[in-house]
Amino acid sequence: MTPQPDPQAGAAVKAADRAHVFHSWSAQDLIDPLAVAGAEGAYFWDYEGNRYLDFTSGLVYTNIGYQHPKVVAAIQEQAGKLATFAPAFAIESRSEAARLIAERTPGDLDKIFFTNGGAEAVENAIRMARLHTGRPKVLSAYRSYHGGTQTAINVTGDPRRWPNDNGTAGVVHFWGPFLYRSAFHAETEEQECERALAHLEQTIAFEGPASIAAIVLETVPGTAGIMPPPPGYLAAVRELCDRHGIVMVLDEVMAGFGRTGKWFAAEHHDVVPDLLTFAKGVNSGYVPLGGVAISAKIAETFATRPYPGGLTYSGHPLACAAAVATINVMADEGVVEHAARIGETVLGPGLRELAERHPSVGEVRGTGVFWALELVRDRETREPLVPYNAAGQAAAPMAAFGAACKKNGLWPFVNMNRTHAVPACNITEAQAKEGLAALDAALAVADEHTAA
Ligand code: PLP
Repeated sequence: MTPQPDPQAGAAVKAADRAHVFHSWSAQDLIDPLAVAGAEGAYFWDYEGNRYLDFTSGLVYTNIGYQHPKVVAAIQEQAGKLATFAPAFAIESRSEAARLIAERTPGDLDKIFFTNGGAEAVENAIRMARLHTGRPKVLSAYRSYHGGTQTAINVTGDPRRWPNDNGTAGVVHFWGPFLYRSAFHAETEEQECERALAHLEQTIAFEGPASIAAIVLETVPGTAGIMPPPPGYLAAVRELCDRHGIVMVLDEVMAGFGRTGKWFAAEHHDVVPDLLTFAKGVNSGYVPLGGVAISAKIAETFATRPYPGGLTYSGHPLACAAAVATINVMADEGVVEHAARIGETVLGPGLRELAERHPSVGEVRGTGVFWALELVRDRETREPLVPYNAAGQAAAPMAAFGAACKKNGLWPFVNMNRTHAVPACNITEAQAKEGLAALDAALAVADEHTAA
C-alpha cells in the first residue's frame, strides 16, 4: 500500500507549500506541515516512507476512509458525463443526492439546500431561521464550533471566535450540559440535565423570547470535546423552542453520517430539529459539499417568497455524485452499523481500559467512532493537562503526547487538553486495536506530566 519513499519529491512539495500556501488558523512561520504522498483506507503516508493510522479522519470527515474505489469511480464517471452545471437546473446527481439525504434525515426534513461546506450550511440555516421568525437573535453554546465564516464563527463557542468577534451578529452564548466540567456544580447526569435546562430557560427569558430566532446546537459537540448530551436534554430544548416559536437548528456537520453509530446523532435522542446542517461525512469530503435539511414548516416560508441566498457551486454535480456513491457505499457495506459496533466492542472498552491504567486520563466519553479522552494533571481536581487554549511552552505536555503518537505510527487529533479517537467509520477491529496500542504508548508520556 505504501509506495517507495521519494524524499526529493517531498522536499519540492514542502518548499512550494512554504513559499505560497497560506494555512488556516496558523501563524504561518511557526508551522511545519507534513508533506503527504498518498492515502488509502484508514492510513496515509509521507514521502519518507512513514505510514500513519489516521485517528483524525482528516478533520473528522473521511467517514469511509481515503480513496474508496467506488466513490473515486463515481466522481470520475460524473466528470466524464457532466463535470459542472449551474444550481438553478435539475441535475441527476443533485436530485439523487438530495433524495438519499432526505430519506435519511429525521422527521420531515425533506428539502435540501446544498452548500460547499459546514460553515455555509450554518450561515444559511441561521439566515432561514431569521427570515422565518422575523427575529434577529441566535443562542448557541460555549464549547462549540460552527465554522469559520462570519456568522458561523460568531455562534462558535471556542477561542477561535475571539479574534473574529465583532459583536454585531446578535449571538448570545449559554452553557450546554457537560457533567465532567459542570458549569452548574452538578454531580449526576440528571442534575446536569435539569440545571442546564433551567439555565437555558432563564437565558431565553432574560434575552426576550420574542427576539430569538434560533437555538443552534451541535447534537454532540465535537471539536469542543465530544460531549454527548444527557438523555432528555435535546427533547427538552425542542419543547422550549416550540413553546417560544424559536427555530431549533442541530448542527450535524461533524456528528452526522455515521460518526455516532447512527446516520444522524439526533436519532439517539428521538428529536427532530427544524433545520439540520450537514457536510463532511455526506461524501467523506472527496469533493466539498454541505447543506441544510429543511422542515416542511420552514420550506413553506419560502414556497412563494424567494429565499435570498445562494452559491455558484450549490449542489455541484461532482460533489453530489460523490455523495450518492458514499451514501450507497455506507448503506451497502453496513458502515453505520459497523461504526456503532466498533464503538461498543472495541474503541469504548479499549479506551476505558487505557483510562484505568493511565493516571493522565480523566474521562473517556463518546459513542461509535466519536471518542474523547480528557487528559488531566490530577484526576481528583480534574486540572487539565494543559490550561484552556494554551499555546507554546504551556501546551508542551500535549505536544509531547502528540509526538509520541506519531512516533508510534498514529496520527492523533489533539485539541487543548484532549485527544479524540475519531477514525473512519469503517475502520477494522485490527486497525482500531493498532490505534489503541499506539495511544497506550503515548499516554505513558502524558502520565509523566501528572501529579501522580
Ligand atoms: N459545524 C461543525 C459542528 C463542525 O465541526 C464544523 C467543522 O469542523 C463546521 C460546522 C464547519 O464546517 P466547514 O469547515 O466545512 O465549513
